[in-house]
Amino acid sequence: MATNIMLVVTDQLTWRALPCYGNTFVKTPNIDRIAKDSVRFTNCYTPCPLCQPARAAFWSGRYPHETNVLSNGRKWPVAPVPEEFETLGETFAKAGYKTVHFGKCHDAGALRGFECSPEEEIPVDDVSPAFPYNFDTYEDRDTTEKTVEFLKHYSSQQPFLMVCDLVNPHNICGWVGENQGSHEDVPTGKELPPLPENFEFDDITNRPIAVQYICCSHNRQAQTEYWTKTNYQHYLAAYYHYLEVVDKEIGKVLDALEKSPYADNTMIVFLADHGDSMAARGRVTKQVDFYEEVTRVPLIFSGKGIHGEGEIHDIVSLLDLYPTLCGYAGIDIPKGLRGMDLSMGLKGREIPKRDYVASQWHTEWGYTVSPGRMICNGRLKYMYYIEDQGEELYDLEKDPYEKVNQARNPEYSKDLEEMRTLFRKYLEETHDNFLSLEWYADKKWRSHEAGYHNHRGIAAPQEG
Ligand code: ZN
Repeated sequence: MATNIMLVVTDQLTWRALPCYGNTFVKTPNIDRIAKDSVRFTNCYTPCPLCQPARAAFWSGRYPHETNVLSNGRKWPVAPVPEEFETLGETFAKAGYKTVHFGKCHDAGALRGFECSPEEEIPVDDVSPAFPYNFDTYEDRDTTEKTVEFLKHYSSQQPFLMVCDLVNPHNICGWVGENQGSHEDVPTGKELPPLPENFEFDDITNRPIAVQYICCSHNRQAQTEYWTKTNYQHYLAAYYHYLEVVDKEIGKVLDALEKSPYADNTMIVFLADHGDSMAARGRVTKQVDFYEEVTRVPLIFSGKGIHGEGEIHDIVSLLDLYPTLCGYAGIDIPKGLRGMDLSMGLKGREIPKRDYVASQWHTEWGYTVSPGRMICNGRLKYMYYIEDQGEELYDLEKDPYEKVNQARNPEYSKDLEEMRTLFRKYLEETHDNFLSLEWYADKKWRSHEAGYHNHRGIAAPQEG
């Protein structure tokens, strides 16, 4: 019988937040269970640091500009992923797998081919006043229960591809709303985490306009108006709390798998759709920018058939997930997928080299539109925004926290040319018409002095 595959997806989880990627503050004993004897990709990037475009992209193996799922919806309409694009669920269903999905969808149709259960909420009573819960946490309780029930009762000979699609630590977004503006923090009863070394945003006037005014385009960033350093430490404490909450849910799923007949015949894949700013540059959650905190995500393979070297440092993309699962399962990879089959890396062999990974930004809800692209070759990271033709260049080896934009530094002119060339190559080979896209922002969202702490009042609307 073919090996089963269980995907555990989290939402808004930066690789840097996890102990298995070096975090020494937070405790995630259950994600550590997955990471033990695993192959971990240490440089995996999301194709878009936003839920729906990222998910539509990695479930279909195509960039957002191809799926045309560019936003989370509302003012900017989102049509379903085109029917002619085969999806991961369809490929595996056709190959004879039971394809089943529990939890967060938000996929614009890219989960076609999976049997999806409606997202429901189960109230959670063990609430700490410092860390209130919302539907994100309630849905995870439901998702876990459904996943555990599936593992308990599934008895077919048909191999399964099952997705346990969890939302936390995304509850951090709601936490910002609960703590907006000037406020006293609710005591956590625990030591507060240290702020990251790139907490101060000294270089903000040397960044593209769209990045300088994220506070004006993003409700969550505007809600940090008047926050103190301690408020940001509480933000990080809350982020780690919601991560520990989802870790407990993952523990229940792993226990159920271990007790099931599938314990020795299942590969587990752990990933997140995108990251979180984690207080870097005084930022919360995610929007517009492509910094490491929001674009770099965990990607871990463990269980049946994984005999790799532990860590793989090559640059990879979440777009590689689909072809890699096909490669692992011995299924023909559909034509037109943008990612690469990394399955040889799961067996200790070298993965194919690539010259870049890319990520895209358009808009969250459609009220400000800031088309941008990121290209990373491992050592250098290059970003370009249409609004002011603003460029960014970071030397990730010397400046892993992206503190200094080197795009205008003559010492980096050769590197800049190299990345511009790679960027043009990306545009050409992916048929991305990015350079003809239009930006939009009302001029009142570009009016105050640079610095998120100079923002006052509301930002561009998120609803309506
Ligand atoms: Zn502002």
